[in-house]
Amino acid sequence: MPRIFLPTLSVTDNRIVLDGEKAHYLSSVLRCKKGDELTIFDGKGNCFRTVIERADKREVISEVLRHFPCDFESPVHIILVQGLLKGEKMDWVVQKTTELGVREIVPVITERSQVRETRKAVRWRKIAEEASRQSGRSVVPAVHEPVGLKEFLKGSEPVRQGEAKGFIFWEDGGASFDEAIKKISVSPGLPFAGSPVHLFIGPEGGFTHEEVTLAQEKSFQVVSLGRRILRAETAALSAVTLVQFLLGDMG
Ligand code: SAH
Repeated sequence: MPRIFLPTLSVTDNRIVLDGEKAHYLSSVLRCKKGDELTIFDGKGNCFRTVIERADKREVISEVLRHFPCDFESPVHIILVQGLLKGEKMDWVVQKTTELGVREIVPVITERSQVRETRKAVRWRKIAEEASRQSGRSVVPAVHEPVGLKEFLKGSEPVRQGEAKGFIFWEDGGASFDEAIKKISVSPGLPFAGSPVHLFIGPEGGFTHEEVTLAQEKSFQVVSLGRRILRAETAALSAVTLVQFLLGDMG
């Protein structure tokens, strides 16, 4: 059954109306018709099981059969702070970490980023929306506008105050991740409630010593992913998976 993400959905007379590109996608691409069932979610935890009453390429009207809370989300709020990568690699990181339950993605420009500016945030948001829909999530991760790493570390209140939690992944000598993560979970075994966990992954050229030190000064822990040098996209995937395993809902 098709799942449609409709952040602005509203129910009137027990019906939901879809128009624009959603109507076109349903009627012309998926060839949905009257009587077909459809799941619609708003990305805020609401899901609606509906049956199509009328469908054409301009508008689809679907009757609500059941409204249920859909929460396919991990209890841990992961913010991936990802050094900008070249070509399609950011697309891949956005798609895979969305499937793995990341909640926010902050593309950062670092000293060694070969990509210094990009207008791809809109593209990455579409990829995140599609990956959320495909993986059955009830929330679409936020993909922020690219920002300089130093600006990010002076940005939001908790980060600037050194009160944010998280890890900067450094191939030149971080601590054991297993040890480090024990220091931040509220208490082992309990869902990690509350503040987000930031995961900093560098660009292809890695972080500079100075960048690692800046992150440490904001109380982010420097951690290793083992003795092998992983490509940035491999490191991003591994870091999110490990946090979901140790703190989230993949354990
Ligand atoms: N400077 C490396 C490449 C960096 S890999 C080289 O010499 O080839 C890109 C990013 O992946 C790094 O900045 C780091 O965040 C992460 N990474 C890769 N391997 C890692 C490891 N073994 N431990 C921790 N982080 C790693």
